[in-house]
Amino acid sequence: MKVYADKEIWFATGSQHLYGPETLAQVAEQSQGIARLLDEADAVPARIVWKPVLTDSDAIRRLALDATSDDACIGVIAWMHTFSPAKMWIAGLEALGKPLLHLHTQANVELPWDTIDFDFMNLNQAAHGDREFGYIAARLGVPRKIVVGHASSPDVQRKVGTWVRAAAGWDAAHHLRLARFGDNMRNVAVTEGDKTEAEVRFGVAVNTWGVNDLVAAVEEVADADVDRLVAEYEEAYDVVPELRKGGERHDSLRYGARQELALEALLGSLGATAFTTTFEDLGALRQLPGLAVQRLMSKGFGFGAEGDWKTAVLVRVAKVMGQGLPGGASLMEDYTYHLTPGEEKILGAHMLEICPSLTTSRPSLEIHPLGIGGKEDPVRLVFNTDPGPGLVVAMSDMRDRFRLTANVVDLVEHPPLPHLPVARAVWRPAPDLATSAEAWLMAGAAHHTVLTTQVGVDVFTDFARMARTELLVIDESTTARRFADELRWNQVWFHLAQGF
Ligand code: MN
Repeated sequence: MKVYADKEIWFATGSQHLYGPETLAQVAEQSQGIARLLDEADAVPARIVWKPVLTDSDAIRRLALDATSDDACIGVIAWMHTFSPAKMWIAGLEALGKPLLHLHTQANVELPWDTIDFDFMNLNQAAHGDREFGYIAARLGVPRKIVVGHASSPDVQRKVGTWVRAAAGWDAAHHLRLARFGDNMRNVAVTEGDKTEAEVRFGVAVNTWGVNDLVAAVEEVADADVDRLVAEYEEAYDVVPELRKGGERHDSLRYGARQELALEALLGSLGATAFTTTFEDLGALRQLPGLAVQRLMSKGFGFGAEGDWKTAVLVRVAKVMGQGLPGGASLMEDYTYHLTPGEEKILGAHMLEICPSLTTSRPSLEIHPLGIGGKEDPVRLVFNTDPGPGLVVAMSDMRDRFRLTANVVDLVEHPPLPHLPVARAVWRPAPDLATSAEAWLMAGAAHHTVLTTQVGVDVFTDFARMARTELLVIDESTTARRFADELRWNQVWFHLAQGF
């Protein structure tokens, strides 16, 4: 069973009539074999659906239109087994509204040195057939991932799988409705942005609801449902005695459960898969939703705090792209540094809202005062994030475009933090804290991020290409000087690429 069970990748094989029915039958059979190898690969998380061999421009255009209109299809793989004159592909490539992967492969692994004749050469000519396709795709400026190698190769399968995950993220973005409860935190710059452009660029619909809608939903929750959810909390977490049934602050936990049930019901009725809240606009809510937000993120919802809808989009997309993989994804915020020479690290956290998908340990469910917001003490899950590789990604609106900035990080073990009443993560950013932070500040990347421990920079690279969006990467190879150059070049490129 594939992770994206209801999604398909269509496998398109290019050829032409010139070869005659016998050769075309072989082309069909061998391309089905290639599609099957990918379909059966564990590394490829969606079904690969073979489509009949394409031999003229009408058929190519029809396939592209069908792929574009079919909601199950999230991308197309194209391979030119033989020579497929590429003018035939112009109308199709221009009509294609789904992500494209150009698989540069062939049916055989080894050259049959002893038996090779010109019939074999006629049949197996992807080496130049795919170059003809590459030319027209490049000339038309079609964003595409190119993967080279035999379909049985684990490396090829992994690269295809990476792209499929990005395509699932792209698809999720195009079905993403984001509900904002309240506006952005007052006077904050980086959490602002062009919501119309976000819908053009990523397909996300970002709209605001009054917090009163949420307050009303909280009041409608049935007590029996609260009882059931509180029992679930006691199963799943170490609930501190004061919050347990009979504890003096149990009512606060019940209110947290009420918020979770209300939010989930309201988001469900809106068809929303991501949301934001803001501590400056809580209306009659008694607590800032902490536990509720953490729980909903762990169920797959995107979330951004202080009205930060751009980060909520990233959290949702990262969760979909990482589906089925170990680890998780969460809103994160760079908070404070450990600057001991040679041991530099970042402590990340938020007021409350870190997703427990980042830990395999058993979170503690606690209640503590919150210095801002002027409401009752909120309930929240407290835990350490698991050590291991991770990636933080931020989105900034640079006026003429969105900029994604990604930093490869290493989450590390750290001493206990007995007085810090929130979930947290500690990481070493690549290549080192000084270079990472200098590059981050040069890029104008945000203080809110998604931290994912499920997918790496390769998946976000494919996603950014599909969305025609800038992605800056800070990793082991980054130097401040090269990064500054890249910023300047990108400034020019993305300005020109957008046209007038
Ligand atoms: Mn924040």
